[in-house]
This record gives sequence, structure tokens and C-alpha cells, in this order.
Amino acid sequence: MKPLLFFAALTLLYLGYCWCYPYTACGNCDGGKHFTSDGQYWRKCGRCKGSGTKIRLGRKLFGSTRDL
Ligand SMILES: [Zn+2]
Repeated sequence: MKPLLFFAALTLLYLGYCWCYPYTACGNCDGGKHFTSDGQYWRKCGRCKGSGTKIRLGRKLFGSTRDL
């Protein structure tokens, strides 16, 4: 298989995956919350606004995300 074709197939697969599963876990927090080192609730995560999930980068490429 040509490398270019392989890349195109991978990209399509990834975009399809992003379309079906637009959300991924926020890597910046634990379920939308930040905890202190002794396990106490500290504050809401600012990056995902407390939801614990974020929209995949690939999904943003499709444009509007207001339907999500
Ligand atoms: Zn977060």
C-alpha cells in the first residue's frame, strides 16, 4: 500500500471516530473537578468547565459544535 493512501485511510478513520465520539476525557482534571493532594474537593476545572469531558480536536475541524 502506498504511504499516502495509508495516511488518507488513517485520517478518514480518525475523523469518523471523532464524528461518532466527539467527546474525550479532559486530561486536566478528574471528572471535572480538581482535588487537593489529600483528596479534598478544591474547585471546578476551568478547561472543561466542570463537565470532565472536552471536544476532540478532530471534531472541531468539522466546524460548528453547537449541536453537541
Ligand atoms: Zn477538566
